[in-house]
Amino acid sequence: MNHPDSPDDRLPPVASFQAYLEQLHQKYQPLNHGKVADYIPELAKASPDWFGICVATTDGRIFEVGDSDRIFTIQSISKVFVQGLALEDHGRSFLLSKVGVEPTGDAFNAIVLDEQSKRPYNPMVNAGAIATTSHIKGDSHTDRLNRMLDMFRRYIGHDVAVDISTFVSERTTGSRNRAMAYLMNNFGMIDFRVEEALDLYFQQCSLMVNCRDLAVMAATLANYGVNPLTGDRAVAACYIRDLLSVMYTCGMYNFAGEWAYTIGLPAKSGVSGGIIVVVPNQMGIAVFSPPLDARGNSVRGGKVCEAISADFGLHLFDSSLGCRTFLEKLQ
Ligand code: GLU
Repeated sequence: MNHPDSPDDRLPPVASFQAYLEQLHQKYQPLNHGKVADYIPELAKASPDWFGICVATTDGRIFEVGDSDRIFTIQSISKVFVQGLALEDHGRSFLLSKVGVEPTGDAFNAIVLDEQSKRPYNPMVNAGAIATTSHIKGDSHTDRLNRMLDMFRRYIGHDVAVDISTFVSERTTGSRNRAMAYLMNNFGMIDFRVEEALDLYFQQCSLMVNCRDLAVMAATLANYGVNPLTGDRAVAACYIRDLLSVMYTCGMYNFAGEWAYTIGLPAKSGVSGGIIVVVPNQMGIAVFSPPLDARGNSVRGGKVCEAISADFGLHLFDSSLGCRTFLEKLQ
């Protein structure tokens, strides 16, 4: 029987994947919905026209189009990777005692903790991310920052740095994050000096990346923690399931449920306009385009991810297409 939603059998040929991405880029470049974030003044300097797409496969191939080399700050996408470092430092049960894994329908910067446990809801909202960051081990702030930068370097495959202007911009306008951090300190969810935790959080958000870096980071997660270009392990394989399941349920702000339902892949977005998507075992997808929708997700980014997922049958639970993997078709 033919159902109205049964998937189209004619998938595009993956051999011309570069041409496919160029078509997608051309199709969505004219889309001019959304608004560049301006609550952090440095972010407001971004052009609404910037638009890059990059796909990195777990066997080390890169496909890129548009502004894939343009540098921007990683923002909330950093939260996934710092969660991995905190898990390596303390293990699952300690971290779970400090930060939950429940999705929340509230905005990413809501000042809200779980009523009973007093934990922030999950590591992808600001409160949970600040608490997670506060648990990174190290002898001093510099040591903790260096451990974090070293972790990002393993995912990306080259040296990384923090954008000082964005860091200062976040720090001077971050009253809301500061209020959350002090509230959590009151409930014992933050482990060391609050201002230091905040600075470290603002520094991780101000990490400079481009779309290609993000795709390689996502491909490293897809490759169970090993960077497919360098062969370096970035995170213990046993924690990939933690990171991907939290991305899947909480990664796209208060659109996470609909994203999981329609696109069906773990993803994380940030207010500077980046989105990463992980296709386990196969590839990492990254899109960069600063105009955001009302929930804080890149408008063009959402369209591109939706198209790639639908066109290649990548929804994790799409049984009819499950056997037709991307890599098998790539020549
Ligand atoms: N640094 C930003 C903040 O704390 C990150 C927000 C985001 O990308 O969602 O507000």
